[in-house]
Amino acid sequence: METENIIELRHVTKSFADNGFVAVNDFNLEVKRGEFVTFLGPSGCGKTTTLRMIAGFEMPTSGEILLNGNPIQNLPPYERPINTVFQRYALFPHMNIFDNIAFGLRQKKVPKDQIEKKVKRVLSLVDLEGFEERRVTTLSGGQQQRIAIARALVNEPEILLLDEPLGALDLKMRQEMQLELKEMHDHLGITFIYVTHDQEEALTMSDKIVIMSEGKIQQIGTPEDVYNEPKNAFVADFVGESNIFSGIMTGKRRVRFCGGEFTCVDDFPEGTHITAVVRPEDVVLTTPEKGMIQGEVTSVIFKGMHYEIAVQSGRNEMEIRSTRTPKVGEQVGMVIEPDGIHVIQAAEDTNRFLVDINENYRLSYNGKVLDTSVTKLIRGGHRLEDGTIVDENGDKLDLSRAKFEAEIQPSDIEMTDNYEDGLVEGNISNLIYQGDHYSYVIHADNGQDFVVYDEDLWNMNDRVGLVMPVEKMKFTLKKQGRQ
Ligand code: ADP
Ligand code: MG
Repeated sequence: METENIIELRHVTKSFADNGFVAVNDFNLEVKRGEFVTFLGPSGCGKTTTLRMIAGFEMPTSGEILLNGNPIQNLPPYERPINTVFQRYALFPHMNIFDNIAFGLRQKKVPKDQIEKKVKRVLSLVDLEGFEERRVTTLSGGQQQRIAIARALVNEPEILLLDEPLGALDLKMRQEMQLELKEMHDHLGITFIYVTHDQEEALTMSDKIVIMSEGKIQQIGTPEDVYNEPKNAFVADFVGESNIFSGIMTGKRRVRFCGGEFTCVDDFPEGTHITAVVRPEDVVLTTPEKGMIQGEVTSVIFKGMHYEIAVQSGRNEMEIRSTRTPKVGEQVGMVIEPDGIHVIQAAEDTNRFLVDINENYRLSYNGKVLDTSVTKLIRGGHRLEDGTIVDENGDKLDLSRAKFEAEIQPSDIEMTDNYEDGLVEGNISNLIYQGDHYSYVIHADNGQDFVVYDEDLWNMNDRVGLVMPVEKMKFTLKKQGRQ
């Protein structure tokens, strides 16, 4: 059956057997025939793993992959009409260009005259006519990558997968090849699935961008969509430069952040906690009197077409792109028009985790005892002489299979580099600057992720202990065993 979608991934999850690590988590995507789709995300977010499952080098742990509407999980790579171009060109150094490109066709026993025609054609496609006799070692990086692309195209795949194919090239070569690849795609009409961690590359080349973080899709959209309407702070931070602030709705299309109150185009109920995203080019510099907010210029950097200016406004910092050149130390005003403010309902950052009850009816987490007892947490709870616990009605509680869920706010957790002082230890796996604080995600050794707000700058992968005062935690009885 013909469908418009050439490839479809449904609830695809991949965890690795050796460590149980979930590299790709419930991935859902439809790719239309002829589309240029890009997977964009930081290193380690699962891009290559997803591509390898499409190519057939890796099996999903669960979920389905459909090609033209038919499941292909059980097809080996060579039976899929799909070819891959890798970051490292993987050419055979001892063969000339012709033999490199013809290799696959010879294995498939394609007649000789056809091989010659096909090789000639793909060489002209990648702009390297007449290179048949050259040795791989005499080519530049860019030329080698073109040969790698030609070698994939010669099989006339329906889908070409490209895994950071320009990653090893210098900037100028990369930009040239970006345009060439885009032209090649438009000209050939085949479907491209492209992987990069470079947001500019993704914005330049793609029809559709899939933004990923930690194995999960964060947003799917056109380059304009993900730039202008980021769905969450991660996307706003990853795609383009942005100022990200936490704030609150103060009325109909009125929003407060960064020490000012603004009119915006997004509507949320008054009192809603929001994340405001303001692109540096949408902040207009003016005199302090005319500004909606004021601040002091702390740096000015010349960027060729414009200046990149940092302004400190109270506890917040604003990045501005402008052709004006204020001086460092100057007091300025800033104006932001309603359509320059993108408001996102704030992610709920409350941390929740299950804690255990030990044999002394004390709560413990991560093997450490918390300074509170179960009886304190149950309304009217007390302990009878025989050791059983009853609630305010005198009903006996069987806590042998009960758990408490603890709740703590990101601003109530403190990070320390004396890790042992923490209730848990872990490494910083994500950080986003939010105007007057950083929002961190800490991946704890026990597998739990914690969100922590901190004014100080820590680095990615820093090892920290998380100090969580028990008096800041709220507990709810979660699962109660049968009585
Ligand atoms: P990306 O291409 O986005 O940089 P990958 O898909 O290569 O990310 O990897 C995603 C995560 O899965 C990484 O944390 C990586 O260490 C892990 N991973 C990849 N392959 C394996 C494997 N064979 N066994 C265990 N973990 C793996
Ligand atoms: Mg990769």
